[in-house]
Amino acid sequence: MTFPKRTICVAALLVMAMSLFAESSDSWIDRQAAGRFQMRSEIPIRQSKVLSNFMHSLQQHESDISATLRLRQNQKPIVINVFQSRRSYQDFVTRIAPGEKERRALFIQSETHGSVYAYLHADVMTDLRHETTHAILHSSLPFVPLWLDEGLAEYFEVARANRASGNPHLRRTKLDARLILTWRPQPHEAGSCPRPICDDGS
Ligand SMILES: [Zn+2]
Repeated sequence: MTFPKRTICVAALLVMAMSLFAESSDSWIDRQAAGRFQMRSEIPIRQSKVLSNFMHSLQQHESDISATLRLRQNQKPIVINVFQSRRSYQDFVTRIAPGEKERRALFIQSETHGSVYAYLHADVMTDLRHETTHAILHSSLPFVPLWLDEGLAEYFEVARANRASGNPHLRRTKLDARLILTWRPQPHEAGSCPRPICDDGS
């Protein structure tokens, strides 16, 4: 079975009451704060190298985003909920957004705070950076177009040291850019566009 690799912002799909309900869980055994960020976890945070490293990198992550985009930082809380397994995560997500349970991670924005939901797996750090990027953007901006929201989340999901030159999305982006820059319409193709732009599913 395959699962969507990438995550999505579902803020527009969920009502605020759902996100408030989502805050209640019996299974958090640890909590840790870093500035306006709070992590709640089903495993001890200090015993997880990944979670500890992520908590230590959070404020740098926010500074990178704010500096790059010249965002005005605010203090709206962002709560990061980490589940110990995919099953535990899906059990929880099923209660708040049944249609989204196959996604690997989620971000939900309410009027008062942002909530990130993820579970432990080999690439959870990428998911945490991705969803937290959504949370930071949506806490600072009244509206973010989906294409820009996802593009920025994919850029900042990469480890800081690799973002500029070792970004795994860079090769595809260069190929697309080269195709767009070199493409010229043929007479029989008038009105068409290069394939990377034509995202009609064909
Ligand atoms: Zn996303």
